[in-house]
Amino acid sequence: KLYNQVQDLKGNIRVYCRVRPFLGRQSNVTNTVDCIEEGTITINTPPKYGKGRRAFNFNKVFGPSATQEEVFEDTRPLIRSVLDGYNVCIFAYGQTGSGKTHTMSGPKDLTENNQGVNYRALSDLFLLAEQRKGTLQYDVSVQMIEIYNEQVRDLLANDEIRNNSQNGFNVPEANLVHVSSTFDVIDLMNLGQRNRAVGATALNDRSSRSHSCLTVHVQGRDLTSGGVLRGCMHLVDLAGSERVDKSEVTGDRLKEAQHINRSLSALGDVISSLAQKNAHVPYRNSKLTQLLQDALGGQAKTLMFVHISPELDAVGETLSTLKFAERVA
Ligand code: ADP
Ligand code: MG
Repeated sequence: KLYNQVQDLKGNIRVYCRVRPFLGRQSNVTNTVDCIEEGTITINTPPKYGKGRRAFNFNKVFGPSATQEEVFEDTRPLIRSVLDGYNVCIFAYGQTGSGKTHTMSGPKDLTENNQGVNYRALSDLFLLAEQRKGTLQYDVSVQMIEIYNEQVRDLLANDEIRNNSQNGFNVPEANLVHVSSTFDVIDLMNLGQRNRAVGATALNDRSSRSHSCLTVHVQGRDLTSGGVLRGCMHLVDLAGSERVDKSEVTGDRLKEAQHINRSLSALGDVISSLAQKNAHVPYRNSKLTQLLQDALGGQAKTLMFVHISPELDAVGETLSTLKFAERVA
């Protein structure tokens, strides 16, 4: 009861933890997850990391057998909020390989059953808009951008976006594409994915070192009053949160790592100061938080999925992910 009251005070920020299953032939690898009970996950910590077991609390914990459908079920109320005129941010956080893209987009061999949050959110949006069409007429458009080394790239146009951040922009000057069905959206997501891959030059797998953001803008016109409401939803697949060993990387790789590090901590600082209802929220410390400013704080709703890998050899990253999440939860 008390726990719920505390959650209510924090209101618009929810944090869910998702544990990836073991992959392929890994079944005899040691599991770091000791147990999952409702909103609590307990991690076995090897001596190097301290006291043996550590528990972390979240609004919800999804174990390795949770389906895409189950995960989306608890995301659904936010989709309705967007159509009601709220701004929403949904983030996927975690080290590379922990399941962020699986949650947001789905696996490579996409079927209707394993589609991620992005697809389900858009198809729900169209479904709800259709149900309301007697009273409201909705217009939906999307943008897709990537943030790499604090530079914004338009994934639906394939060129660099110049922005004068001195002027305090909130929505980037990225292509805004009107969509009227889930088919349109799937086409655009595929285009965005292809453009993202084009950017991945000699550096292997750039996607894990950039943030990608699918933004959905919704405008609803009340057919009787003529009034207009606007909502938007940012669906963000964040760069991998793993720390790099400064003694091992240099040059571009180190610069990349520092950009990621700084922008993820800037995001953590913003969300935790919102959760604590601080008067000052440090939006200006990263491109990501500047871009999302209108959708973080105020009436806006935030959902953070933190992802962890179950393998023992990932326990160091797992603990730092859970500590990050604990700070914002
Ligand atoms: P990330 O985006 O965090 O780097 P991925 O989403 O690419 O991680 O996941 C790494 C691998 O694990 C992929 O092959 C993915 O399909 C698989 N995977 C991740 N989460 C799940 C899950 N919940 N169920 C089944 N496979 C998963
Ligand atoms: Mg990924």
